[in-house]
Amino acid sequence: MTFGASVVQENKKQKRDRNIKFLITGVVFLNDDCIIKDTKISKRALWDANCVLERGFYTGSLSFYGSLLIFLNNICHKIMNEQLKNDSANVRHLLDIVKEQGIEYLNSIEERSTSVVNHTLEKHTLPDSGYGTEETLRIFNQKFEPVMVASSGPRYWGFVTGGATPASVAGDWLTTIYDQNTQTMKGQGDISGVIEVEAIRLLQELLQLPESFLGGFVTGATMSNFTCLAVARQWLGKALGKDIAREGISEKIKVLGATPHSSSIKSLSLLGLGSNNIIQIKIQEGNSEAICIEDLEENILKLNGAPFILISSGGTVNTVDFDDFKAISRLKEKYNFWWHIDAAFGGFAACSTTHRHLVENWELADSITVDCHKWMNVPYESAVFLIKEQYKILQIETFQNSNAPYLGDPLDNFNYLNFLPENSRRLKALPAWFSLMAYGKKGYQEIVDDNISWAEKFGDLIENSNDFKLLAPVRLNTVCFTLKDDTRQNEVDLFLEKVNDTGKVFMTPTFYNNHKGIRAAFVNWMTGEKDVHTVFEIMNEVFTSLK
Ligand SMILES: *Cc1c(COP(=O)(O)O)cnc(C)c1O
Repeated sequence: MTFGASVVQENKKQKRDRNIKFLITGVVFLNDDCIIKDTKISKRALWDANCVLERGFYTGSLSFYGSLLIFLNNICHKIMNEQLKNDSANVRHLLDIVKEQGIEYLNSIEERSTSVVNHTLEKHTLPDSGYGTEETLRIFNQKFEPVMVASSGPRYWGFVTGGATPASVAGDWLTTIYDQNTQTMKGQGDISGVIEVEAIRLLQELLQLPESFLGGFVTGATMSNFTCLAVARQWLGKALGKDIAREGISEKIKVLGATPHSSSIKSLSLLGLGSNNIIQIKIQEGNSEAICIEDLEENILKLNGAPFILISSGGTVNTVDFDDFKAISRLKEKYNFWWHIDAAFGGFAACSTTHRHLVENWELADSITVDCHKWMNVPYESAVFLIKEQYKILQIETFQNSNAPYLGDPLDNFNYLNFLPENSRRLKALPAWFSLMAYGKKGYQEIVDDNISWAEKFGDLIENSNDFKLLAPVRLNTVCFTLKDDTRQNEVDLFLEKVNDTGKVFMTPTFYNNHKGIRAAFVNWMTGEKDVHTVFEIMNEVFTSLK
């Protein structure tokens, strides 16, 4: 025997002994009855097992080791099955207590804190045999529940954080209960894709978009931008005579944009297009984040007819500025480019009676990103990509599982996994479908118009105050403001921290136009006028305390 081999053998043996010890430690927790009644293990085996336990290693025969492992394995499974059996016999009770807790949470969400202040979390290790659901809920309630912020409540104005309508919560529960792997619309395995296609159609109706788009659900606007830009990449490759999905990228791809969301930049990085390669177009004059159309055209001319991708904004996050879609659609008649619109939340301006003009002509884009977990008030993770159906082949080329013959011909059998990044996926469409059906066009029009009016109201209070000022006009549903006195710029962070510390409101910091600022985004169906006044009062109190 070579030295090397003996070392391997030693290690194997040590490992085996460790395994036995570990398994036997588990057995000790069982009562003797269970061992003796339910198994055929011999006295000799138990004696050996004790030896292992006492001495820390095993000296008996290998075949015994095998049967001991099988025996202990069975015991372990038996333990797991006990908990599972117990839980499954008590599903009604378990779901009842979770339901009660959920109702209590939702009914008191207005009083619940919007920010986490101090917390230390006890560390748990993976239990050997598990606690069962009820005890696990108790542990959750003791450990994590207190640090859950009311992010779907009426005064969580940070980032762009949507709530969850009651119908969407119901749909989300059922998504979990039915637990479909949503792929196809016909066949035997699952046809929940029918629900997804219908939800997309309802959403298109809500947003007044034509059915010329093929849509699907992904986890968020980031993945939607990624999906759209992936097809754009394939389109651009084709224009250059290449199949980028197969061949990879061999040259710089021209991507133009003025104020793309960070998630589009991230997508460029993921797609191998390079987050640094974006050709920066100027922003139009004045207090704006919208693309300067003249500069865009000048840059297009510089490309000498080379195809390119344009990433445009249907609502920037800082000041909710919209690119001029009418002007872009005119350029699209003259030049050869893929037009992508990131309308993650701004797209819902389409539901508004007063602000629909902001998205006029957006249906002429090649692809659009819309988030459902923001202004549509559907729980995370929910967003939609809309890509013109005419590019279906490019989309398949990009996403198909080409080496899995059991999936069939992607053109013959529509299957979502050939059209988007994920393969297995939950039925994300169901919460959206529920909410669209439950509240319809009028419901969403009201949510959107209300939120716009709260933003305008909040903007008015700020505009007319002695201590605060707007950093940009309120164009839709977001208010971007700062302390009025520019010499106090260094106090903006502290001010916001103190406001958030009250737990009554949550807003996020930003930087705009050379100013430290604060953003409040109104996208929650629960927000009302009194919330606007409550927050403004808090702001005044905190500001006074700073003086
Ligand atoms: C929020 C947002 C995103 C990213 O969306 P996720 O849902 O967080 O992935 C992209 N674009 C815009 C304009 C957004 O507001």
